[in-house]
Amino acid sequence: MKQTGHVLLIGAGPGDPGLITLKALSALQDADIIVYDYLANRAFLSHANKDATTIFVGKKGFTDHVTQDEINELLVRLAEENPEARIVRLKGGDPFVFGRGGEEALALAEHNISFEVIPGVTSGVAAPAYAGIPVTHRHLASSVAFVTGHEDPTKTASSINWEHLAQGVDTLCFYMGVRNISLIANQLMAHGRSPQEPVALVRWGTTPQQEVLTSTLEAVAAEVERTGFAAPAIIVVGKVAQLRETLAWREGLPLAGKRVVVTRSRTQASRLVSELQDLGAEVIEYPTIAIEPADNPSDLISALENLSAYTWLVVTSTNGVDYLFDTLLEIGKDARALAGVKVAAIGSATASALIDRGIVPDLIPENYVAESLLEAFVDRGVGAHDRILIARAEQARNILPDGLKACGAQVDVVSAYKTVVDKTAPTSLVVEGLQEGSIDAITFTSSSTVTNFVALASEALEGGEPELIALMNKTSLASIGPVTTETLQARGCSNIIQAEVYTIAGLVKCLIAHLGEDTER
Ligand code: SAH
Repeated sequence: MKQTGHVLLIGAGPGDPGLITLKALSALQDADIIVYDYLANRAFLSHANKDATTIFVGKKGFTDHVTQDEINELLVRLAEENPEARIVRLKGGDPFVFGRGGEEALALAEHNISFEVIPGVTSGVAAPAYAGIPVTHRHLASSVAFVTGHEDPTKTASSINWEHLAQGVDTLCFYMGVRNISLIANQLMAHGRSPQEPVALVRWGTTPQQEVLTSTLEAVAAEVERTGFAAPAIIVVGKVAQLRETLAWREGLPLAGKRVVVTRSRTQASRLVSELQDLGAEVIEYPTIAIEPADNPSDLISALENLSAYTWLVVTSTNGVDYLFDTLLEIGKDARALAGVKVAAIGSATASALIDRGIVPDLIPENYVAESLLEAFVDRGVGAHDRILIARAEQARNILPDGLKACGAQVDVVSAYKTVVDKTAPTSLVVEGLQEGSIDAITFTSSSTVTNFVALASEALEGGEPELIALMNKTSLASIGPVTTETLQARGCSNIIQAEVYTIAGLVKCLIAHLGEDTER
């Protein structure tokens, strides 16, 4: 038999990137080709191998850009043409719940193409859950049905048994039903469901854009019309919808409904992004910085060749740690090359990156800035007997090397890496957000995020930098520490909130303290 590729039909979950299964995630990481659509959150693609081919077969509501037949044919063709490939078909929610995954599986089976199914968290359960609605509940609902709301309202012979549904099932979860809400409500009432039956619509459930509308069967259609409530949404009909009054948990998260811009580099942003999302914020990732090897890597190499000549090694960022150890490996050395050299880390993140590499730092300053590190060195009696290697970014302040030299120490500064402006940042999204006042905060985690943000975003404005600064001053500018704050101030920024502890955790705390109370916006 002819050999063909292998296709995995995977559920991505309802939208919150954390709701994908471990099995789906690892399949995604291993995939060579990924075919995805509109409801499968793009965030997942960041988990994919960077060499993987991604194919968008977007379908939006009722207007099919790509027909189902075309998708089936595409999957078959990809599998036949790429016999060695791991092909992932990523679908929103669960692939077999109104996802037409069954049809795709049938097409594959017909062509003798092997496939697997990895179920996902379906929106019919998850969207209500995030709105504080359990789909079953003792005494209120002992049965639940998933129903398509997509049926043509003018169709005379419905494939939905409205009478049984209205009378025989406690909770009804309609998918794709927003446009037909009036038909659905009327059918249920005509077949015996009470006009006072509670109804909830959950739009973009589990995502930061989640919106909920609650009503009754008799009033819901007019309410949807009046508010312009749009798809995609799950319609929950049944007594359980009322539990939301007591169980709505998400609206209570400290950063619920807040839009926060994160300006860190993609490689470093993930922790800040996921913490903010877990607190309910909508995060716009705006990577201003990309990390690249230094222009002259030979400086670092020769310093590392000669490590035993130093009494101290100073590392000032996690990127520094990464480049340092990668370069050590390249020249055939490892952590043992640091034997006998004391190591200083500028802060807790750098320290834990070192610990991950098997090196426990000898010195971490009280405050995570160069001034504080310098003080700590002075306290330890740094002097002419010291030879200190500082491995850091190409562009950095000279406070530490100058101060150490002033104490008589011999200091070598080498560039472990450099930071450049990341051109992939979504500038128009952020600039428009600032203009319409929909951004609650912009986070800055270093001076270069400030410099690069201003450079990138002001290009998109006719009034250039002054116009941008005026816009920035209308939102909260969250700074990780005093040095970043100074850089902001030097640019004319005023509306600055600063972390008390100069770490990501400190920055998150500071956002909660300031945005959490401010419900005025
Ligand atoms: N396979 C998907 C459903 C696809 S059908 C699943 O298991 O969830 C598309 C419909 O799913 C949409 O019209 C909407 O009714 C529902 N849907 C998908 N994601 C949703 C979300 N995040 N919030 C609310 N409804 C959603």
